[in-house]
Amino acid sequence: MIVMFSENNSEILKIELNDIASHSQELFLLREDMIDPFVSGNKFRKLHYNLKEAKLQGKETLLTYGGAYSNHVAAVAAAGRREGFKTIGIIRGEELDGAPRNTTLSFAESQDMQLHFISRDAYRNKDRPQNLAKLTELFGDFYAIPEGGTNALAVKGCEEMLSEHTHKFDYICLSVGTGGTISGVIKASQSHQKVIGFSALKGTFQVSEIQKHTSKTNFKLLDTYSFGGYGKIDSTLVRFMNGFKKESGVALDPLYTGKMVYGVVEMIKAGAFKENSRILAVHTGGLQGIAGMNVVLKKKQLPQIE
Ligand SMILES: *Cc1c(COP(=O)(O)O)cnc(C)c1O
Repeated sequence: MIVMFSENNSEILKIELNDIASHSQELFLLREDMIDPFVSGNKFRKLHYNLKEAKLQGKETLLTYGGAYSNHVAAVAAAGRREGFKTIGIIRGEELDGAPRNTTLSFAESQDMQLHFISRDAYRNKDRPQNLAKLTELFGDFYAIPEGGTNALAVKGCEEMLSEHTHKFDYICLSVGTGGTISGVIKASQSHQKVIGFSALKGTFQVSEIQKHTSKTNFKLLDTYSFGGYGKIDSTLVRFMNGFKKESGVALDPLYTGKMVYGVVEMIKAGAFKENSRILAVHTGGLQGIAGMNVVLKKKQLPQIE
């Protein structure tokens, strides 16, 4: 595999796959997953300016929200500890409180994050002022980072994923959760580039989040390759991810980048990209989620992610 450039631990890798060898398009991978071993990919970008802002405001504690497998919660725990913050994770699902911790939550605790479990109902209403007041009573003053980490400062951080090294690509493909990361990428994209977002969830409702941050329209969102919704996975996806790793040497994650790269390859095969175009797929990280997903796959007697 050819490495085109390498900078700040991130690089652009040319991907050669048998399956698409007969097609004229060239596929490259922006290795944002290599930025940091613990705070991977886009979560690092999304936290960068938020942590700076928290320091400016003199905050000592970061508080954020997420599900039990959240890459974002793991990232806040690791980045917060490194930068000298106390961290608190508000986790969806009261029933998890007494249960053995999964890999994501035990990692968060190993980074000294204090976990606080709330019911799904309470979680749904977490942004109501009276609930925020309750958290302040419990934990004192804190800098709140929203679920998934998306806010204007996160979008600003994600703009830095693109650079002069990415100008020559015709398409930029990436996975979409809340829409924060793609908002930054769209903002930083060149007008000749088309940004394609692969929703990891059912639906393409993230357009409204994107429109809060940019008026540019050189993008498209698809949920064709969401495999039925967030966290949904089947043996086709696992086999694709394992085959991709064998051929390229790069591991993908089961919630986001696996689905996105699967979609890109399917679209190349279907002739959805211009002839002779250069496609840049962004590896946004998320590899900490593999271990937890393998436990689920084993229970369902599906193949394991290698
Ligand atoms: C969180 C995450 C995303 C989605 O990012 P958003 O900014 O919420 O759209 C994509 N890929 C990985 C690996 C993630 O952890």
